[in-house]
Amino acid sequence: MTKPRVVILGAGPAGLGAGWQLAVQEKATVTILEQRDVVGGNAGSFDLAGLRVDYGSHRLHPACEPKILNDLKRLLGEDLLDRPRHGRIRLQGRWIHFPLKPQDLAMRLPISFSGGIAVDAAKKLLPNRRNGNGQETFTSVLEKGLGATICRDFYFPYAEKIWGVHAEELSATQARRRVSAGSLGKMIRKAVAVVPGFRKPGAGRFFYPKKGYGQISDAIAEAALGLGVNTELSSSVERIELGTPHKVSFSRNGTTEMIEADHVWSTLPLTVLARSIQPAAPAEIIEASKRISYRAMVLIYLVLEQPQWTPFDAHYFPEADVMLTRLSEPKNYSAADEPMGRTVLCGELPCSVGDEMWNASDSELADLTRESLKKCGLPITSTISEVATKRLPFAYPIYLRGYERHFELQDNWAGGLDRVLTFGRQGLFAHDNTHHALAMSYGAVDCLDKNGVFDSDKWRAYRKDFAQHVVED
Ligand SMILES: Cc1cc2nc3c(=O)[nH]c(=O)nc-3n(C[C@H](O)[C@H](O)[C@H](O)COP(=O)(O)OP(=O)(O)OC[C@H]3O[C@@H](n4cnc5c(N)ncnc54)[C@H](O)[C@@H]3O)c2cc1C
Repeated sequence: MTKPRVVILGAGPAGLGAGWQLAVQEKATVTILEQRDVVGGNAGSFDLAGLRVDYGSHRLHPACEPKILNDLKRLLGEDLLDRPRHGRIRLQGRWIHFPLKPQDLAMRLPISFSGGIAVDAAKKLLPNRRNGNGQETFTSVLEKGLGATICRDFYFPYAEKIWGVHAEELSATQARRRVSAGSLGKMIRKAVAVVPGFRKPGAGRFFYPKKGYGQISDAIAEAALGLGVNTELSSSVERIELGTPHKVSFSRNGTTEMIEADHVWSTLPLTVLARSIQPAAPAEIIEASKRISYRAMVLIYLVLEQPQWTPFDAHYFPEADVMLTRLSEPKNYSAADEPMGRTVLCGELPCSVGDEMWNASDSELADLTRESLKKCGLPITSTISEVATKRLPFAYPIYLRGYERHFELQDNWAGGLDRVLTFGRQGLFAHDNTHHALAMSYGAVDCLDKNGVFDSDKWRAYRKDFAQHVVED
């Protein structure tokens, strides 16, 4: 019997994982269409000044489902390093280790901060503040769980930088899906979990491939290729004409090509999918697609002529006076020695496509990074031999209050399309980790039987599980 033809849109971890598993389980003939000339999506890597660097700080979290983690371990072998986390957070001019350690909580927190937390804890549960309509919001959920001090000095300014809106405008879902230590109790348990004697498996550690985070996607792509999966790069999907078969049009090198599909599995942003389908989505769906949006990010890479800048993997800047949210030193993720006399810093600057930051020149962005670090007492003293920037138009979904109804309208519409599936971080508008995106791809493959029939009820059950995903930092 001929296998169904599955055309997957996007070669990030979700698309690649699905293509690979469809081939492993011999369920389909697979083509993956990717607009960029490399695989990996936001979780890819690229070469800079003799180093492999990522699109911002990326780690594979030990929370990864064991089956998926074992598959990745088999693919990457000894290249998948098990590394201790060693970051720090700037809080009121002090540096606190991240992940939190009990001794930092006790000794290093600024007095006003630790005093405030103590008062909040003593007050026990604050009344659950709701907005005028009696609904929970991002701020009410976090204040209830963490108390006013952590929210005021840490989460709210951080949230405002990450999502570009006032914390009050964010939905309660953002708090539940994004903040893994959502209560004081959880925060303390997380801190204690790294202490020898109380250590939980994986606590305070992460997995990282020797050749950069993108090695995960590269290895999956290679394994998929070995099983006959056809990945077409530089192929930007423009239109999906529904029918039997579906017809997917994409542009490559200035020409438009078309491929037939029994199933279309899209990891494109849901909003893009809604605008690409023919016959066109109803007006209310197109309207809904304009009412949810993604936060963009500029990544600023500084090449420094020194072996190592600091021993820390990442610095976090929650406060409003520094525009960057995080700065990582890629060499420290894999403990690489090479190149000997050089390191790279990567600053993360959330923004909106087309705004002043998005359009800033490399030298303006390098100045901003240098000034931010100087302000934090970390001046760059060595030569900056090169500056590079990358721009991610779809970095984070923004969960504004009320976004749920616009998302659900589109999601229900997409769910009703015959033999079309939307999944992955962009496809489900989920602020998810790579292991979550891979879990979605494994789930999707499990729902397709060998006769090419997709079990929608099973998928709905998977979607309930995915809705429980909480982002790991
Ligand atoms: C700054 C930052 C830090 C992160 N840190 C971590 C971390 O530490 N750990 C972790 O697990 N996760 C982290 N993540 C999340 C991780 O990057 C994502 O979970 C992962 O990339 C999701 O994979 P995906 O395949 O669903 O989506 P994506 O990686 O976004 O892939 C989608 C793909 O679709 C392609 N595409 C889009 N439009 C088209 C089109 N029209 N035609 C063809 N192709 C198209 C894109 O080019 C892309 O390759 C981070 C994300 C960001 C932004």
